Amino acid sequence: MHIRKQRLLTPGPTPLYPPALHAMMASDIHHRTEDFRNAYRSCLADLKEVMGTSHDVLMFAASGTGAMDATVSNLFSRGDKVIVCSAGKFGERWVEIAKAYGLEANVLSAPYGEVVTPERVEAALAAEPATKGVFVQASETSTGAAHHVEAMARAVAKTNAIFAVDAITGLGTMPLDIDGWGLDVTIGGSQKAFMIPPGLAFMAISPKAWKLADSATLPHYYFNLKKEKKSGDAGESSWTPATALILALAEALRYVKQVGMPKLIENAQLLAEATRAAVTALELQLFAPASPGSSVTAVRAPAGMDSSVIVKEFRNRFGAIIANGQGSMKGQIFRIAHLGYFDFADLFAVIAGLEIILNANGHPVQYGTGVAAAQQVYARAAVKPQTVTA
Ligand SMILES: *Cc1c(COP(=O)(O)O)cnc(C)c1O
Repeated sequence: MHIRKQRLLTPGPTPLYPPALHAMMASDIHHRTEDFRNAYRSCLADLKEVMGTSHDVLMFAASGTGAMDATVSNLFSRGDKVIVCSAGKFGERWVEIAKAYGLEANVLSAPYGEVVTPERVEAALAAEPATKGVFVQASETSTGAAHHVEAMARAVAKTNAIFAVDAITGLGTMPLDIDGWGLDVTIGGSQKAFMIPPGLAFMAISPKAWKLADSATLPHYYFNLKKEKKSGDAGESSWTPATALILALAEALRYVKQVGMPKLIENAQLLAEATRAAVTALELQLFAPASPGSSVTAVRAPAGMDSSVIVKEFRNRFGAIIANGQGSMKGQIFRIAHLGYFDFADLFAVIAGLEIILNANGHPVQYGTGVAAAQQVYARAAVKPQTVTA
């Protein structure tokens, strides 16, 4: 056999930042000690800094969905009217959570690959002034489309409703001015642009959202925002935290601050642009051509070819795990991720591998066509060489 490295190239979990992984080995630490409190406090402070917000930031031992659940169960009451923008599997998740808690959801849906326009949100808010909340995905990871968060936020800010944004793959891939635009709940997750394993959910909560918490009556226990805020102020979490992940996060956030959030976003944007150029040069179709986001690029498999073949071939030939479509999109699309710890060298390899896979499966392409298109984006962007000291 030949050497074949395992490569995790999905839009969550994403490739791990090695120093963060190493930091996890120091997790023989007790969570009610000053050493750990210092790490916890610095994570919360650094999260605030990289998210660019003055709002309270809380952390939970949960995958990102935990923070979505917490948003509904802590800020709303049974029968509350809400608007859910649903343009993919994660939008459907907001709908399911709202329904599970007995909210009255007006679902504004868009076909997979498209987005819900801010105008529709504005019209729905005008039609129902009693609306208490608007839910959206900044980046809909299942389709690769990104919503126009700023324009939506401006529409919601004029009303009494709060704007809850699942930014789990939006953070670190697109500009999000939480305070300036008026995002009342902004949710993140550890296994996306934060470059560490799954298991931590983050949320920034605005004063407007906190006000809703005072009148909300839905039951909740584990995810208790007020209790968590009090604990966080004391450098602790309410329950036993995921200590290993907190140590990893501290390390990853150090790196994100060093790179700088604008550069992390630009990194994802450039990789996304290069990916679009490459697959277009290979005569493949984008799944969300009108509103492509930068967290992940969803690409249609060539006509007559199941995208599962491409996914399987990446694994078998190159040890690389890339994402298939979710739900009814499975078999139709494959997804190339850009969020977090991805670089151009990763992308050149993915595109070169894709060309080999297409050729081997009845979709002849000229070797190098896609790679050259990606290289041209790299060259045009004039990415500066960096001296590596490690
Ligand atoms: C990954 C992801 C989530 C959270 O999923 P978990 O499995 O709970 O981590 C939610 N929304 C979006 C847009 C995501 O990409």
